Amino acid sequence: QPSILWFRQDLRLHDQPALCAAADAGPVIPVYVLDDDAPGDWRIGGAQRWWLHHSLHALARDLESRGSRLLLRRGPAAKVLAQLAGESGAGAIHAIRHYEPWWRAAEADLGERLCLHDGNHLAPPEAVTTGSGKPFRIYSAFWRALQAHLPPEAPREAPETIPAPDHWPDSDALAEWALLPTGPDWSTGFGEEWQPGEAQAHERLADFVDRVAGYERDRNLPAEEGTSRLSPHLHHGEISPRAVWHAIEGQRDAEKFRKELAWRDFTDGVVMALPRYADENGRDAFDRLPWRKGAAAQRDLRAWQRGRTGYPIVDAGMRQLWTSGWMHNRVRMIAASFLVKHLLIDWREGERWYWDCLVDADYGNNSVNWQWIAGTGIDANMFGRIMAPLGQSEKFDAGDYIRRWVPELADLSDAQIHDPDDAARPQAYPHRIIGHREGRERALAAAKAMRG
Ligand code: FAD
Repeated sequence: QPSILWFRQDLRLHDQPALCAAADAGPVIPVYVLDDDAPGDWRIGGAQRWWLHHSLHALARDLESRGSRLLLRRGPAAKVLAQLAGESGAGAIHAIRHYEPWWRAAEADLGERLCLHDGNHLAPPEAVTTGSGKPFRIYSAFWRALQAHLPPEAPREAPETIPAPDHWPDSDALAEWALLPTGPDWSTGFGEEWQPGEAQAHERLADFVDRVAGYERDRNLPAEEGTSRLSPHLHHGEISPRAVWHAIEGQRDAEKFRKELAWRDFTDGVVMALPRYADENGRDAFDRLPWRKGAAAQRDLRAWQRGRTGYPIVDAGMRQLWTSGWMHNRVRMIAASFLVKHLLIDWREGERWYWDCLVDADYGNNSVNWQWIAGTGIDANMFGRIMAPLGQSEKFDAGDYIRRWVPELADLSDAQIHDPDDAARPQAYPHRIIGHREGRERALAAAKAMRG
């Protein structure tokens, strides 16, 4: 009797425990189900669709090279899988565990025939909890508790051949899903920056292993290639975090990097406990914060989305995001803080924009980081802590980064690039949409109003 291998954000063959279990049991029917219904407002955005198209293409090819195939089906995942099991006579459905609320609901619907495996985390989030069995609210405490589960298991090799069923059930054609942008093709910059797929994920990792030493120094410098850029590969599960962890063994700064890698585990623990964390303030008091709304706020939101705020570091980040589907972590923080504090616009507007534009858009990572920056979250960060975009730009030496992404400013000197005065500012570049002090004071007044 065949079993079904259900791929989700684990589009790989190496260190794929669900694949190993299915292949050990007999013939395997691998399937990816495009479910745009169950996630509701959190169905995957445009940038991720671009990634998914290419990643599924690569996965299908890799499966074929091992004697198998990838079936594509569309619809509510639990229903589609039950139907496929009926058609093919499959018994068990093997899958790696995920923590997005819609996946957990689908898992519950599938009941006993579903065999779940751990494999997308350093340790299963439900195993790393406080003494009273709750997920951690603060990262440093989580990291200390995670130590008891480290090192993670060694990654497993992919089976050389994957047993095929006697009859292959029907599959959609990938092109029918129209995952790539049509009309205006905004994705040309993506192809220059990224190559989705398991093989490329391993190439990126191999390239990064030579650069881990230096991560602590360079990771905050947006003009440098100081981080791994593995996030879209990790989000889509083209590489396992265990493989990443073990590959950098013995390198200087490996510990610092592993501490960042473990953030993914932490954020999934948060959304496991608080499934609506992407929609609801972590602290209720913020339901009373008077966010700006109306035409002026809409105009400011659009200026932020388009990279036309008049703050070079913010604009460089927002244009990098739009053009390449990714933004440097330091700049993600600066741009997010600017939206929430300087423009006093609800963090959920920014979270939504990142969701649609990021190739690594991730339910847990996006919501937890937004709420952390906004100061609305369950952790200890305060709303009154307001990042100074111009100071940050100088401190982290973002001049060349700005020159790359805001070409109107490319000729400015180091002295002018972070904060051009009126004489130096080219006409094509906008005035600041709000002064730093003015924005700061307005945000602090709103926090005071919230407290009553
Ligand atoms: P590296 O520094 O090389 O880190 C390695 C890996 O560790 C990353 O690929 C990522 O998987 C993980 N990681 C590192 N930092 C974080 C972090 N703060 N939170 C969670 N995981 C982390 N990351 C996403 O993957 N998806 C998102 O949707 C996302 N939204 C964000 C929104 C905001 C407002 C902010 C401030 C950060 C967000 N991040 C998100 C976290 C972080 O910016 C990216 O993971 C990182 O920039 C990816 O680049 P890298 O792979 O080169 O990171």
